[in-house]
Amino acid sequence: MVNSKRLRVGVIGAGQLARMMTVPAINLAIDLNVLSEAEGSSAALATTVVGDYTKFDVVKEFAKSVDVITFDHEHVPLEILQKLEAKGVSVQPPSKALAFAQNKLHMRRRLSELNLPMPDWAAVKSAAELEEFIANHGGVAILKTPIGGYDGKGVRVVREAAEAADWLKPEALSRFGGELLVEEKVEFVREVAQLSARNPSGDFKAWPLVQTTQSNGVCAEVLAPAPGATPAMLELAVAIASHISEGLGVTGVLAVEMFQTLDGRLLINELAMRPHNSGHLTIEGSVTSQFEQHLRAVLDLPLGDTSLTAEHAIMVNLLGVDDKNNFVEHYGKAMVQHPSVKIHTYGKSARAGRKMGHVTAVGPSEMAIASEVWQAVGVLLKG
Ligand code: ADP
Repeated sequence: MVNSKRLRVGVIGAGQLARMMTVPAINLAIDLNVLSEAEGSSAALATTVVGDYTKFDVVKEFAKSVDVITFDHEHVPLEILQKLEAKGVSVQPPSKALAFAQNKLHMRRRLSELNLPMPDWAAVKSAAELEEFIANHGGVAILKTPIGGYDGKGVRVVREAAEAADWLKPEALSRFGGELLVEEKVEFVREVAQLSARNPSGDFKAWPLVQTTQSNGVCAEVLAPAPGATPAMLELAVAIASHISEGLGVTGVLAVEMFQTLDGRLLINELAMRPHNSGHLTIEGSVTSQFEQHLRAVLDLPLGDTSLTAEHAIMVNLLGVDDKNNFVEHYGKAMVQHPSVKIHTYGKSARAGRKMGHVTAVGPSEMAIASEVWQAVGVLLKG
């Protein structure tokens, strides 16, 4: 057919998030082009261009091949995105929103203006300012680098400024934008995440709140819906996400990571403006997966139903244990022994601690699916 309509999305970054967008892209006849930093990346199934996303000319050329640019990570320099936008390129989420996902201090300042619930926080530039915050918050605080942290890197528990001497040196401080973020250490009951999506026309949809468990700062397990969450808490979490996505002008998928406190409050920890680890279980566990919803949202298509396909869903990450096990070797055995568990491996080379894949199960009994999934993980690890 001549001149038939084609939808083309360009994803900057070629990790597992871009990789998992390829399946719904095929289903919806969306041409997916990926800008990868290196050959042999996790998303290499889609049309992939290898190039440096910190070079304007590379990204400008890449943008010519698609209708809209979106992301697998939030590290693209804002100036590059602003220049593209000035040339009329559709960037989703737009640079003005992504700025808040790139810098935790910008995010805290903007969420304060919107009166959203957060841990007590401050920007500090010196040991004296840090000592004062620690003294006013029970002798302990959480110190964060505003830029460049992920999976717990760039987060420290501190009881005295000496523990942050390296980050407070002028060279280090200037690398982080001149200031560090310090927060009260929240005594939380658990961590939860609210996933939602918004398109440029303002259509907004949220999935049910999930409970997340981290191990060494890395997401280990996700349960949907968050066990024991009251209707009031579920509603509050959605209201927070909707307020943020409108207030910050977010498009595409938004993940809001929160702490649930002893007295039942939700305090915002982190934001991600892309598909997120807390939403991987939506592939099997929801009518519309976060990857499909992200593509629909950035193309300004109507958003899909976010209901769960069963009463409960669980996802467990497959974290690398050494430089050999890529979770393919034993997956035949896991498939035989645990046929109801869905295994995802990302095709990455093995490395201890690396996110190499995940497994999901859905069903009416939380206990039963959790037991199946964790047994399958045992087989994937040891055979
Ligand atoms: P990253 O961007 O590396 O994921 P986060 O800001 O999400 O870093 O912090 C990583 C983990 O550190 C959180 O999941 C939580 O367990 C803990 N943490 C972060 N901020 C606080 C806080 N203010 N109080 C208590 N624990 C915190």
